[in-house]
Amino acid sequence: MMRIGHGFDVHRLVPDRPLILGGVTIPYEYGLLGHSDADVLLHAVSDAILGALGLGDIGRYFPDTDAAYKGIDSMLLLKYVVDMAQARGFRVSNLDTTIVAQRPRLAPHVAEMVTNLTRACQIPSGCVNVKATTTEQLGYAGRGEGISAYAVVLMAATEN
Ligand code: MG
Repeated sequence: MMRIGHGFDVHRLVPDRPLILGGVTIPYEYGLLGHSDADVLLHAVSDAILGALGLGDIGRYFPDTDAAYKGIDSMLLLKYVVDMAQARGFRVSNLDTTIVAQRPRLAPHVAEMVTNLTRACQIPSGCVNVKATTTEQLGYAGRGEGISAYAVVLMAATEN
């Protein structure tokens, strides 16, 4: 049995925060604002996995009102979600993502993001894709006010 899930997230760009995308710290004069490390890509992926399984969204499990999650590494949130899926008899089959950012240039960092996602989702290489696009300077992403990310995941029932 297969399940498909979709995730979307956006965070605001502000000064004096590190920019962390897909678990990679990227040199830039702005970073994403959030209660956690604000890794918008990992949040979209986590929500896609939860969505596939009808389990809500990461805000349900890691509320931004809980001080325990302040500044937390979103890779830990993703791993928790992957474990939840496994406990319910599902594994990630493949994952496709898009980051929407006008700046900085993300291409040099995509391979490391793919490696991080491949490890966190515990799937073979070649089953994860990370794309980056600008919006041709249109809208909030184009003005550099924020970065968003989309994720689509296919979950497969684990054989026994
Ligand atoms: Mg988020």
